[in-house]
Formats: sequence, C-alpha cells, structure tokens
Amino acid sequence: MTWKLMKCGLENPDLLLDESILSLGNGYLGVRGNFEEGYPELFSSIRGAYINAYHDETEIAYGEKLYGFPVMQQKILNVIDAQTVQIYVDDELFSLFEGEIIHFERILHMDAGFAERIVHWKSPKGKEVKIVFRRMASFITRELFALSIRIEPGEGIRKIKIASAVDGDVSNFVDASDPRVGSGHAKRLYVTEARKEEDFSVVKCLTYVTQLEVACVTATDIQAEKYAYSSQAEGGRVEETYVCEGRRPIEFTKFSVYTDTLRHGIEVVEEARMLQERLEGKSFEDLLVEQRAYMDRFWLHSDVEIDGDAAMQESIRFNLFQLLQSVGKDPHSNISAKGLSGEGYEGHYFWDTEIFMFPVFLMTNPEIAKNLLTYRYSILESAKARAKVLGHEKGALFPWRTINGPESSSFFPAGTAQYHISADIAYSYVQYYLATGDEAFLNEAGAEVLFETARLWIDTGHMSGTAFKIDSVTGPDEYTCIVNNNYYTNVMAKHNLLWAAKVYRMLQEKDEAHLNELAERLALNETEAAAWQEAGEKMYLPYDETLKINAQDDSFLQKARWNLKDTPKDKFPLLLHYHPLTLYRYQVCKQADTVLAHFLLEDEQDLATIKNSYDYYEQITTHDSSLSYCIFSIMASKLGYRDKAYHYFKETARLDLDNSHGNTKDGLHMANMGGAWLAIVYGFAGLRIKEAGLSFAPSLPAEWNAFAFHFQYKSRLIFLRIEQDAVKYLLVEGEPVTVYQDGEPIRLEPGKEVAIRESAKRH
Ligand code: BGC
Repeated sequence: MTWKLMKCGLENPDLLLDESILSLGNGYLGVRGNFEEGYPELFSSIRGAYINAYHDETEIAYGEKLYGFPVMQQKILNVIDAQTVQIYVDDELFSLFEGEIIHFERILHMDAGFAERIVHWKSPKGKEVKIVFRRMASFITRELFALSIRIEPGEGIRKIKIASAVDGDVSNFVDASDPRVGSGHAKRLYVTEARKEEDFSVVKCLTYVTQLEVACVTATDIQAEKYAYSSQAEGGRVEETYVCEGRRPIEFTKFSVYTDTLRHGIEVVEEARMLQERLEGKSFEDLLVEQRAYMDRFWLHSDVEIDGDAAMQESIRFNLFQLLQSVGKDPHSNISAKGLSGEGYEGHYFWDTEIFMFPVFLMTNPEIAKNLLTYRYSILESAKARAKVLGHEKGALFPWRTINGPESSSFFPAGTAQYHISADIAYSYVQYYLATGDEAFLNEAGAEVLFETARLWIDTGHMSGTAFKIDSVTGPDEYTCIVNNNYYTNVMAKHNLLWAAKVYRMLQEKDEAHLNELAERLALNETEAAAWQEAGEKMYLPYDETLKINAQDDSFLQKARWNLKDTPKDKFPLLLHYHPLTLYRYQVCKQADTVLAHFLLEDEQDLATIKNSYDYYEQITTHDSSLSYCIFSIMASKLGYRDKAYHYFKETARLDLDNSHGNTKDGLHMANMGGAWLAIVYGFAGLRIKEAGLSFAPSLPAEWNAFAFHFQYKSRLIFLRIEQDAVKYLLVEGEPVTVYQDGEPIRLEPGKEVAIRESAKRH
C-alpha cells in the first residue's frame, strides 16, 4: 500500500490539510484537493487552482520606504475554478456532512498519478448512491485538469442532477496574522469572458496589473440512460446541468484546459480550444493509461525503496511525487516554496530550489534540473539590474524571492540581504556540470552566471589585511541578520569565485571564440578573472580557536545564548512570538547555517571542526524553518550519529503528512520534501559529487533491512542497494565508470553487479 496514500478525514482541520496533501499538479497546473461539491461554511477551505508563474503584481505597502526597496511584489493567483460539481439525488443535494456515510475514502495514487474519492452515501431521506470521483492533472497535456465521476443510483431514485460549473470569480486566500501567507490583495483577477459555446464553456480572466490572461475551456460529457441538458452563463460563471433518469450508472467527465499569456501567447482561448480538440475522442481511462506510462518512467529512475519501514516508504514516495507535481518544466517556471499545492509564500521561488530540490532532479531527471538552471539564466538581466540598485557597479544579485525576476521580498534583513542565493545558484551550475559532464551548458549559460555572481562578491567584499571579507549580509539562518563574514556566505562565495576563475581558464583553453564573445559582451578581461582567483584564495572563513568551530559570523559567538530548554513550547516558531531584534541579539538559529556549509563544502574543514560545529549549533537550533532537519540528518549520518540521523530524517519525511509545522494547510513544504531525499541519498548513502568523481559513504539505519535507489551520472543509470551486510552497485545503462566508496575505487561495468561486503555498516 505504500503507493497509495489513504485519507478519510471529515473534520476541521483535516479537510484543510488534505487539500494540500491531496493536491494534484504537473509543474504547470496545480489543483488543491477540494471536494467538488465544497463543504458547509463551518469548515474552512482554501479552494484553489494555480498556474506556475502566472501572477499579478501588487504594490508593497511600507511605513517607511527607503532607497532600493522593491516597489512591487508578485503573487501567484488562484485561477478559474473548474472543480465544482454539485450532485442532486432527486431533490436532495449530495453532501458528506448530511445524511449517512456508509463508506468514504480518499486515495492518492502515487504510482498512477491521480486521486480518487470513493463514497457510499445515504441521503437524509434514505436514498443511497455510490459515487466515485477521480481527478488528475495530466503530465502529458500539461494544461489539462480532468475529472471523472461515476454515480450508481440506488433503489427508488428517480433522477440524478449534475450541475457542473466553471467559475472565474475567484480570489486568493489571505491571512494578515501570518507573514508566511499573503496578507492582502485577495482579488487580482477579473472575468473578461464567460460563455457557453457549442462544445465548450469558455471563461477568460485578466490580471489587474500584469495584464496576463488565463483561459479555461471546458468540455463535459455524460454517459447515462436518459438525460436532459441545459446551460447558463452568468456573473463570470458558466454552469452546465444534466438531469439524468434511469437506473443505470452515470459516467460524467469534465476536461478543463487552462492556457495563459506567458506560455500560449495572446490567443489564450483559441489555444485552449485547439488543445481541447486534440483531446477529442480520449476518455478518462485513456488519460489514465498515458499518465501511468509517464509515472512508470518517472519511478523507474526516481523511486527510493525502503525495505522494513512502511511509513517511511510511503513518506518518501509522497515527497518525490509532490516534487514531480510541483517542478516547472518550461522556461518560465521554477519550483515555488509550496509547489502548486497552496498560496503560502505567494508562489515565490527561493534558494530552496537550488540547495534542497535541484539535487533530486539532478540525480534522477537531469533534464528537469537543467530547466531549473535555464530559468535562473533567464532572469540574469534582472539580477544584474538589482545589483546596480544595491550600489554594485558590476555583477548579478539574484532576488531572494521572485516569480519572474524582480526582487519581491519586502523585509530586506531576511530577504535581499541573503546574498548567498547568488552563490547557491552558482554552486548548482557547478554541480550540474560535475554530475552530467555537460560542458556545452556550462559554457553557454553557466559561465555567464558564474562570472556575474563572482563580480558581485568582488564588489561586495573587500581586502582587509591579507583576507577577503564580506560585510553586512545575512546567511541562511534568518534569526541572525546583517552580519559580517557569515561563514556560509563566505565559503560559498569562495567556491563561486574559484569556479568562475576556473571556467574562465577552461574557456581560454578550449573555446577561445566563445570566451572572446563573452569578454566583449560582458567587458571582461583576464585581470578580472585573476582577481576572482585571488579573492577566492584569500577568503576569510571565521574560526573560533577556543571552541574549535567555525563561527557563524564575526559577532555570533559574542552574543548571549538563547535558553531554548526553558522556552515554552507554545512560543515556537519564535518568529511568530518575538520581535526580530530580540532574536538577533541571541545565539539562536532558525535553521542550519554553518552546518549546511559543512555539508555543501565539506573539504573546507577537517572532520573535527565539522563535528564540533555540529555539536555546538545543534544546541541552539530551533528548526523553526522546515529546511533544517534534513541538513542535520545528513550531517549526523556523516558524523556517525546514528540515532540523530534517523530522528531528523523522520521529522523531515513526515513533516507535511503529520502537519508538524502546523501550516501544511497553506501548502506543502517543498524544500523539506527535497530534503527527505537528500537525507537518504546524501545522508545514509553518503553521496558526494566532486571534481574527483562520485563517492559514497553508505550506512543503513538500524530500523531498515535495506534501501535502494537509481541515479543518473554522466549519461549513465546506476542502481545502488544498501543492505545489512553488503552494498550493491549495478550499472544499468551507459559506459563503464569508476565511483568511490569510503575512498576506495569501484569499477562498474554494464549489467554486472558489484557487491562490496566489508564496507557495509549499520552506522
Ligand atoms: C526559511 C528560508 C526559506 C523560506 C521559504 C523561510 O522560513 O527561513 O530559508 O527560503 O522559508 O521556504
């Protein structure tokens, strides 16, 4: 059953949570797991459908607006509602909150890519019906959200009425008390067309500011013994009604195709109509077959099998499934912090992508990973413009949060000041190159991104004595803002600078023509590349001699330590209960910071420093950010802290399923979901991707019998299985290759399993 996530909640807040958990998406379109018929007012609901990157802009309201603060903020929009279907059994409206439920369950079919709701219901007047709702966001036709409803009328029922609506009069959800949710401007779309055509209903809307259109063209169909049909269009809503008679089961389908100006040009309705026409003749069953084939291909490369722990098996599949559903697969889009499952963080893309989710795709579906990098390349000009606003003569400062390029973060201490995002993006380009060997892409897009981000560091930092220092930035830990020499930022900037210099030299050797073109276009010369090398080599990395740890920044260790032990449980997350300045005055971390740097760039310090730092920072980390547990799990694996590695992994893997952060209703925590995979592959299996090649340091959690996964490496597909007394490698596809386990080379030849016995350990 680990391929099927079952749910049957009908209470507050389960329904609201399940809307996120059972959301469906395909990277373009996302639809929350709402009931087609809705729930009574008493129950809260965030009814939503989203298109990745489809957004409006709103003016940011500041009390005191200083120079360079972003003026406008982007916001993903809740688009046209095509979920609605009301069912009347004779004259009684079907609702699970009235009458009697004989059977009810909801299933997310993660192997097949659809969701199902199975109901056996007795109405208040005693009429029985069986209804099966199935829905999917198609991976084949990304614009398509398809619904199928089968109704079996019981004894004594004369007619079943189905009223299906497409509604353009929708708003976003707001919660002024939570900074992680949108706080105003709920209504950003207005309806420009809503009509019934011969075959389709058509609803079209326009955003207020960005003037982006979205269309939803819907086709409904029914198989019933005898029925009467009518339709009406009113107030931005088109409703179609089927009144069916007879005892035979009724099959109703509703195919809704969404298009938008970003992807489909100005004729959005025409495009949607054309897509609908291409779907003609396809049944819901046909769609299921296509979807299944797509999912089979995905799982073949992406599944992680866990033997001996059904709950974790279910969780990791759920996390991977949701990552696939959320990741943008076209150049306009990326993965937002909540994917396409909710409106939290307004659909913005953060560093979450590069550090927590990109690696999953890099190792399982490198084409998707490449698209994520292409997206960043597409906003490079915007990042360059932003750097200028921040007073930099040269370079690119990537936005802390954005949809289409401009900075959208209004709280600069924990937003724009997180300059590290530029180095994080540079790091991903390098990881992509090392894992795929795709030098052409490194030259085409990577070089420019590396050069422009390297320029940012030169312009931000300065030489102080013999060291290169970087002042007034914020590292990943948002409870410590605007500091000098944040270890994480400095070490990532160092990597950025040294790789920019290296790629410059590589181009000099291998592709001078391209280098000349770049040099001319970017006004770049060898002196500048030499300066990157020098700044990288001289980068200052704070280290505390007494504690023998890397200090998080220059002043961190001088502050008082927050007393976490005596902080009441109801005061977490601290950000909702303490003014930021209170938090900044203490040694207290929202999330992994130095510990994360030690994961990403482990060769920068010796193991003792890494261990001491882990022990130290663990004591003062709240994990108030969902991006934290996974990193502590990975590093616990590295350090041989067996119980901790598993404990933090479990917290990561179940975070949304258990709603342990209390806000899953606003959408799933996508970075954390990527982190669950990282904790297995980089943590338990100990994968690292370096210039010297691919290496593993496998360990098996005591709770498991074995675990296994596939990964891709330089056009090869490799299978790895870690058992209690052996680690088995199989090169499934591709040329022979050498990988490393605990420092020892392992030669892999196609089709021949290599079992390493002595190194397998239950750490
Ligand atoms: C975290 C950030 C993260 C953002 C979006 C914040 O709570 O501190 O690191 O990028 O959430 O997930």
